Amino acid sequence: MLRIRNLKCFYGQIMAVKGITLSVREKEIITLIGANGSGKSTLMAAISGLLPSWSGEIRFEENDLKGMDPPAVVKAGISLVPEGRLIFPPMSVYDNLVLGAYTMLRSKARNEVQASMAAVFDLFPILKERCSQPAGTLSGGEQQMLAIGRALMAKPRLLLLDEPSMGLAPMLVEKIMGVLLTLREKGLTILLVEQNARAALSVADRGYVFETGSIVLEGAADDLLSDTNVKRAYLGKDYEEFDDEN
Ligand code: ATP
Repeated sequence: MLRIRNLKCFYGQIMAVKGITLSVREKEIITLIGANGSGKSTLMAAISGLLPSWSGEIRFEENDLKGMDPPAVVKAGISLVPEGRLIFPPMSVYDNLVLGAYTMLRSKARNEVQASMAAVFDLFPILKERCSQPAGTLSGGEQQMLAIGRALMAKPRLLLLDEPSMGLAPMLVEKIMGVLLTLREKGLTILLVEQNARAALSVADRGYVFETGSIVLEGAADDLLSDTNVKRAYLGKDYEEFDDEN
């Protein structure tokens, strides 16, 4: 569904992503894990059309994403839930959601917007309750639900999530990861960037490990969870337990 070949991303002269190749098949949950600054968000920005300076190939279904701007990428079927959520705090929950459907608004498909909104409220009933409340007054977990809901409003086939667990209590992280499984059951394909490697690998089918702009390891999520290097670098506590036992 998504095929990336020899992708290099640049900020001026600096190469932040150094020739990566990865693929995502339909209905997979794929996670990218790696330390701060390893290039995960840069990759998400390149796929979303937010970072124009890249070389290599990004293909989504029959589309070549080279040169596509963010609205065109959304229309092609990819939505991003950005790092830090980036909701609009003074605007109501409802208006934040409507903004997520702006590509449909332009084509005047109002019924589709209402149908998308109903599906989001089905998934996150709390957002319906808080519909007219300013988004900035929601709790952190509710804001993350709103950010996911907003991305879903455009009816994507591929959902990109950049660190959805950031700043959330463990119970909420579990809830968000559960939502990703539900979305996959509904037919979505998911590419998930996470610092919380344990949570991400527990729902993912496969994963890629990033280090300073390169992929250093890839494989089935279960294999990565039991990989000694992954344990040492990204699953600290587990590794200590592993060490004690051995
Ligand atoms: P984090 O988990 O902290 O978000 P990340 O893996 O997503 O990290 P990126 O944000 O993609 O990493 O950053 C990759 C590299 O690119 C880093 O060295 C970072 O300093 C650099 N970088 C990111 N954004 C810019 C920018 N706008 N201008 C210049 N350099 C940037």
